[in-house]
Amino acid sequence: MDKQFDYLIVGAGLFGAVFTDLATAAGKKVLVVEKRNAIGGNLRTEEREGVQVHLYGPHILHTSDAAVWNYLNSFGRFNRFTYHPVANFKGKIYHLPISLQTCYEVFGTANPADAKRQVAREIAEENVVKDVSAESHALATIGRSIYKTLVKGYIEKEWNRDATTLPTYLVGQRPISYSFDTTEFTEEYQGVPVDGYTPILEKMLSRAEVRLGVDFLKDRQELSALADKVVYTGPLDQYFDCKLGMLEYRSLVYKTKVMDGTNYQGTAVMYYTDRAVPYTRVIEHRFLTPDSCNSPKTVVSFEYPKEYRGPQDEPYYPIQDNRNTQLAQKYLKLVADEPVLFGGRLATFANLSMGECVSQAFTMAQSEGLIQK
Ligand SMILES: Cc1cc2nc3c(=O)[nH]c(=O)nc-3n(C[C@H](O)[C@H](O)[C@H](O)COP(=O)(O)OP(=O)(O)OC[C@H]3O[C@@H](n4cnc5c(N)ncnc54)[C@H](O)[C@@H]3O)c2cc1C
Repeated sequence: MDKQFDYLIVGAGLFGAVFTDLATAAGKKVLVVEKRNAIGGNLRTEEREGVQVHLYGPHILHTSDAAVWNYLNSFGRFNRFTYHPVANFKGKIYHLPISLQTCYEVFGTANPADAKRQVAREIAEENVVKDVSAESHALATIGRSIYKTLVKGYIEKEWNRDATTLPTYLVGQRPISYSFDTTEFTEEYQGVPVDGYTPILEKMLSRAEVRLGVDFLKDRQELSALADKVVYTGPLDQYFDCKLGMLEYRSLVYKTKVMDGTNYQGTAVMYYTDRAVPYTRVIEHRFLTPDSCNSPKTVVSFEYPKEYRGPQDEPYYPIQDNRNTQLAQKYLKLVADEPVLFGGRLATFANLSMGECVSQAFTMAQSEGLIQK
């Protein structure tokens, strides 16, 4: 029997939308099923009071791949947003990522030599073995003062564990930058779409049939029978009914408020690094599109960390410790035997940036013969 569709795409997030666009542009018939009642995955934005609100956390495109940048810009205009995050610790403001500016704010050192000397002195005083835990790694690389001000409280509330029991990768491998440059991302192309991500993804999906509120895993045989091929972008372990064990994530909750006035905190993202403050970040959305937002109001989201207990919770950050990395490898070995293509952050259990996610969709479309290499 002839199938109605060439592809069934599971998930209308960035990966599913890019692949759908490339497949339909190549003349393929595509059905997209999305378990939420809206498209966009974690890139979804919605306008509130004239402000583009990033519902699943602030999303800033950063890539050095001109093909990715040009492709995304063909669907909507990106601004020149450059990310300069700041942290609030007990009411005092510090610049991130950790730079000479941060050293000045923590130690009062005004030049690289003094800052390096201070950090080296603290590292020597601690005399810890570097790679035991997030705490030992931080004490051995950035010293006690910066760690206690900007890292410890944040990672402990984010992961709800003592930093002495957290894996080293969580404190990052990025060395202190001994310059006054406080830019977070180093890639050539950076920006945020002035009209939000949702219109971009709507355009990508416009030639496909999209069914919302459909969980592929609840009806997989019937849905798979509709198409020649299935592209799955949902959680890797759930595809296999978690038969080898559950992959762990950290979840988040955003509490969003509309406020009078146009300036609550003066920046897009403020980290709260004191463990006593229950939220981890505060996002003031209008600062992501500062030149194009004319609203007389401001919309602010408070980000709270949350346990991930399984499919009922939103999977945000994959916990990439030894247990989960090994478990993901086992699942990925099973993928090879499946008549299904796996792509995107959830189906590969990877912390993919948007640029990496689009490149991954390009690669899959190339290997499917939908676009030229
Ligand atoms: C808090 C946070 C902030 C981030 N900020 C940035 C940033 O600033 N810059 C950047 O480059 N990247 C950022 N990222 C990464 C970015 O979110 C990802 O690259 C991108 O969302 C990946 O898209 P995706 O399609 O793979 O996954 P998702 O966006 O998760 O899409 C997957 C879709 O599949 C659907 N689905 C799952 N299971 C099923 C099922 N069984 N049936 C039907 N549908 C299903 C889901 O509902 C979802 O809509 C951030 C990530 C997080 C967690």
